[in-house]
Amino acid sequence: MAKLYFRYGAMGSSKTANAIMVQYNYQERGQNALMLKPRLDNRDGERVVGSRSGLSAPCRFVEELEGIDLKAYDCLIVDEAQFLTKAQVKQLVDIVDDMDIPVICYGLRADFMGNLFEGSHWLMAWADSIEEIKTVCWCGRKAIMNARVADGKVVKAGEQIVLGGNESYVALCRKHWARGELAPLEIRRIAAGKEAYLPLLLEADPSEAMIAGYLEDGELYALLSNGKIAGAAVIVLREDGAMELKNLAVRREYRGRGYGEMLVRHMTKLCATRSDALYVGTSPANVGFYEKLGFERAYVEKGFFTENYPEPIIEDGKPLTDMIYLMRRV
Ligand SMILES: [Zn+2]
Repeated sequence: MAKLYFRYGAMGSSKTANAIMVQYNYQERGQNALMLKPRLDNRDGERVVGSRSGLSAPCRFVEELEGIDLKAYDCLIVDEAQFLTKAQVKQLVDIVDDMDIPVICYGLRADFMGNLFEGSHWLMAWADSIEEIKTVCWCGRKAIMNARVADGKVVKAGEQIVLGGNESYVALCRKHWARGELAPLEIRRIAAGKEAYLPLLLEADPSEAMIAGYLEDGELYALLSNGKIAGAAVIVLREDGAMELKNLAVRREYRGRGYGEMLVRHMTKLCATRSDALYVGTSPANVGFYEKLGFERAYVEKGFFTENYPEPIIEDGKPLTDMIYLMRRV
């Protein structure tokens, strides 16, 4: 007997990655699993499911089910199942019961206000099997709420679904969602939308062309203070196999709190699994900062600042010329 499954979890609990893995497992056994998602509006959205980790797979819309010959499939997988309507969940129930095809749904349980989504409501009511995919709040407790964050603040009112807005979503435990408390301090890797960090990165490196040269291939990390961007760092893998810290920037209003040190320590830790050395190129005024963090002078690149920057960079009243490289064993 086939079953209807509902696997729910908060934002960032790898639901889509799970769905893609399940489809892959079916394919490995020589079986067909159809990937589906509900169409969110009347427009033709992209027929693809994608996860935060970068995995993606083509899919069809649930709205197209009637035109698909389901006899060719051994399983249906539905991503973003919270957006299903009651009628669509009923349609899936009928596929399970009348055609004996298992249907596995992945979705959020509740919206940013803590209310059940329509799809989740009926899946909770009718699924044969309900499983939770767990993820954690910044405090370490299980995250069950999906906070909507706009301008660094947890928002508690508005439309249930916002298409193409600037909001982001963060999984929080119930207590921190209720209090609107985002992580006091956290460092996150930024994979998509790196351009938004350009103004901040320009504070540490005044050349947009130089930044463009390392931002795409480099790893960008953001330091968030109560959900607001306070600082950023970029590391790259060098041709000699060592890592290099290419940019370290802390917003003016967050300086003097040790955030720069915190970012450097974190980057040092990250590099330790991949290389045995972390380099940084800097100007004379910042040498002491890095020496305090265990870096030692390694070499000097003569005329770096005069050759690579169209405008002279003035530090302590003098134009910069040479780049001083420091290195720390990690
Ligand atoms: Zn918490």
